[in-house]
Amino acid sequence: MSEVIGVIGAGYVGAATAAGFAHLGYSVAVVDTDAAKVDGILCGRSGLTEPGLDDLIEAAHENSTITASTSYSVLTDATIVFVCVPTPMRSDGAADLTFIDTALSGVEPYLEPDDVVVLKSTVPVGTGDAVAERLGSAGVHVVNNPEFLREGHTVEDFLAPDRVVVGGDPAAIKRVTALYRSLHSPIVEVDRASAELAKYACNSFLALKLSFVDELATLAERVGADITEVTDVMAHDDRIGSHFLSPGPGWGGSCFPKDTRALISTATSVERPMRTLAAAVDANEAQTQRIAALIADRLDEPDAAVTLLGLTFKAGTADLRESPALDIALTLSKQGVRVFAHDPTITSAESLVARMPLENPADPSQPTLPVILADPYALDVDTRVIAIVTEWNDYRSLQWSLVAARCPHAVVIDTRGIVDAALVRSAGLQLYRIGIAEDW
Ligand code: NAD
Repeated sequence: MSEVIGVIGAGYVGAATAAGFAHLGYSVAVVDTDAAKVDGILCGRSGLTEPGLDDLIEAAHENSTITASTSYSVLTDATIVFVCVPTPMRSDGAADLTFIDTALSGVEPYLEPDDVVVLKSTVPVGTGDAVAERLGSAGVHVVNNPEFLREGHTVEDFLAPDRVVVGGDPAAIKRVTALYRSLHSPIVEVDRASAELAKYACNSFLALKLSFVDELATLAERVGADITEVTDVMAHDDRIGSHFLSPGPGWGGSCFPKDTRALISTATSVERPMRTLAAAVDANEAQTQRIAALIADRLDEPDAAVTLLGLTFKAGTADLRESPALDIALTLSKQGVRVFAHDPTITSAESLVARMPLENPADPSQPTLPVILADPYALDVDTRVIAIVTEWNDYRSLQWSLVAARCPHAVVIDTRGIVDAALVRSAGLQLYRIGIAEDW
C-alpha cells in the first residue's frame, strides 16, 4: 500500500473512486472546486444518493484514510492521481476538455517524477497522448483508465467492475492495475487510443441498442405486435443479450448524449462518419418528441393538465442531466399545457430549480418548469394524462383506484412498460403502453 491516491473531481465517478480506494485500504486525497462537496467528504458524506457510497466515505473518514480540499495542495503526497472531472459536450458536439486542462494545471505544481496521472474521465482519442506529452518532461507517467460505472450502482460497479481497462505507459500500467488486483475483475490492457475509443464504443453501442428498440416499439404498435414479446424472443438469443431491450421515452443522462455526439464528432473529423450512430441520435430525439406528441394528442380541453411520473433520466439516480422526462415537460409547457410532475428525488419546485436552473429565469420565453407534486396521488383534478416517464419502482405499485377516484377521466401512458395493465384497467382508467398494438 505504498501508493497514495489523489482524486480530482468528487462527482459520481470521483466520489466512487475515492471511496472505493479508501475501502481497499489506500490513503486518498480528494480535490474538488465545489466547497460543499469537499465539506461533505470532510464530514463523511458524498452529497450523492448512491447506495453504499456514504457508508464507505464515513468509514474512510473515521479511519482517517480520506481527506479533501478545494486546494490542489491536498494532492502533494499523492503518487497516483485520478482525473475524474466532467468532459461535457461543446456546442459542435465534440467533447469539451477545458475541465481536464484546468485540473492538469491545478495538479502540475504538486507532481513529482514517477508520479502517475490517470485519466478516468471519458476523453476522445488523442487526449492521453497530448497529456503524456504535456507531463512527460516532468517525468510524470500517464495512463488511460476509462470508467464504466452506472449511476445508481457506483459503489457496486467500482468494487466489482465487468472489466478494468488500462492503456498507456507500460511501467505505469503495472502500478495502476496493482491497485485493482484485489477486486478479481478482468484487467484488459490495451493501447491508449483503444482504451479511449472503447469507452465511447460501449456507451454508443448501448445507445444504439435502445434507439433500435424504441423504433421497433413504434413499429410494433402499427403492425399488431407486442414489443415485450418481441424483445423476449430477442433476449433468448445469446448473441443479442437481454440488457437494454426496453423501450422508453428516449435515452438521456450525463453520458450517452454527449458520448454519442463526441464519437460522431471524432469520426467526422477523420472522415470516417458513423452513420449508424448518427441515426441513433436522430431516432432518440424523435422518440422523445413522439412521446410528447402522444401526450398532447390526448388533451381534449384547453385547461387539461398533464402529470409526468418521474423526471430523472432513469430510476435509481437523482441526475436530471439531459433527461427526456424534462424535455417532454418543457415541450408541453411551451405548447401552453399545464404540466405537473412527481419524482421521488424532487421534493419541491425549489429543489428542481436548484438542480436544473433555467438559463435566464427572468426571460419570459423560458418554458415554465413543471409544478412538483408531493406525492403521485396529489393530482390536479383537471389531469387528463398521467404519463410514466421514469421507471421508478414507486410507480409499479401505485394504487390506481386512488388515482381514478381523483381523476376518473385521465388516461395513463406507460412509456416504460412497468405497470400492471389489469390493475390500471380494473380501476376504470384507459391505458396505453408503448409498443403494444392492442392498446392503440
Ligand atoms: P460530475 O459532474 O458528477 O462530477 C464532476 C466533479 O468534478 C464535480 O464535483 C465538479 O465540481 C468537479 N470539478 C470540476 N472541475 C474541477 C476541477 N478543475 N478541479 C477539481 N474538481 C473539479 O461528473 P461525473 O458524472 O463524475 O463524470 C466525470 C467523468 O466521468 C466524465 O468524463 C464522464 O463522462 C465520466 N463518466 C461518468 C459516468 C457517470 O455515470 N456519471 C460513468 C462513467 C464515466
